[in-house]
Amino acid sequence: MIYLDHAATTPVPAEVADAVRDALVNSFGNPSAQYPCGHEARQLVARCRETVARALGCEAERLAFTSCGTESDNWALRLAAHQLRHVGRHIITTAVEHSAVLEPCRRLAEEGWEVTYLKPGRDGCVTLAQVEDVLREDTVLISVMLVNNETGCVMPVREIAELLKRRGAAALLHTDAVQGFLKVPFSAETLGADLISISGHKVGAPKGVGALYLGERIKNPLPLLAGGGQEDGRRSGTEATAQLVGFAKAVELRCERLDASLAHMAALRDYALDKLLAIDGVERVGNGTAPHILAISLAGYPSANVVEDLGAQGVCISAGSACHRGKASHVYEAMGLPKKVKAGVLRVSFGPETQQSEIDALADALRRHRDTRFPML
Ligand code: PLP
Repeated sequence: MIYLDHAATTPVPAEVADAVRDALVNSFGNPSAQYPCGHEARQLVARCRETVARALGCEAERLAFTSCGTESDNWALRLAAHQLRHVGRHIITTAVEHSAVLEPCRRLAEEGWEVTYLKPGRDGCVTLAQVEDVLREDTVLISVMLVNNETGCVMPVREIAELLKRRGAAALLHTDAVQGFLKVPFSAETLGADLISISGHKVGAPKGVGALYLGERIKNPLPLLAGGGQEDGRRSGTEATAQLVGFAKAVELRCERLDASLAHMAALRDYALDKLLAIDGVERVGNGTAPHILAISLAGYPSANVVEDLGAQGVCISAGSACHRGKASHVYEAMGLPKKVKAGVLRVSFGPETQQSEIDALADALRRHRDTRFPML
């Protein structure tokens, strides 16, 4: 199988799987328990937090573990809206966020918050000027993703943070960095966002673990999950020790060769772009600069059919976010792509393990599809 869908999820390296197994078997104690294997599990969780926090560029106490990026996003939006509910009820986000941000925004709107959705240009990005134009006294939250999961566009999060500082704005800044963590260089301390969501399974960890960075402007964060008061009272639920061990191990492995693997992925993206654009009818979609995501379109050839046919040929890519499960993507809709281009959008995404020969196989499979199928009218 040729796997070119690393933005959907990543393979788990053997060292990570071994570390998870070891934790499951040998460190099964409840980290809250007051006997030796509980203490050991607690120390293990603390070490995992330090590892992930170091990679994110923040102090360990600023990081709360969650069950996934979706939980981190939901929690971030909820707690920010709650913290500043006496200041105002206006939220700014983009029309191209992941549904893990758009859905909680929709719910907040049902509860009385006003949400402004910024539309991207044809390049897939929103601009600082757009944010500046809609920022108001009663804006309490800006949520703009760091890297778009369907186009690889890098959004101006640092610039938005600087704008808020310049204006002395009360608004909190959240960024969904699920596709940015260990893919584009940034540090929580210098990015300037108050809340940063990350997820383990995009960087080689098992599914079911994520984290939320809580900056110093976050005061007594409203828990999304109330209960036994784990995670310093911020997120209840018995710590998923083995998952956290897998997260930390995966992060450690990626960090060991980060510069080389980012350069490798960027080179693959450029190689893929050349190779795929050489196929008649293929065009680039957006202008993403993240090293691991490339969006193209085989205009007029319905992407669901392409994905299925390529899958049958042993090549896994996607038609946008895996979460759409075949539904039309709101991202490409918001970019205002022509109908035929939109219908044929494909996302190819890479990991440190991806080889050039796999890109060649993708190009061959796509060419075969184009040569043997009819486009839509
Ligand atoms: N945000 C972005 C940008 C994503 O790409 C994803 C997953 O694809 C998520 C959030 C959700 O993360 P998780 O699958 O860990 O819930």
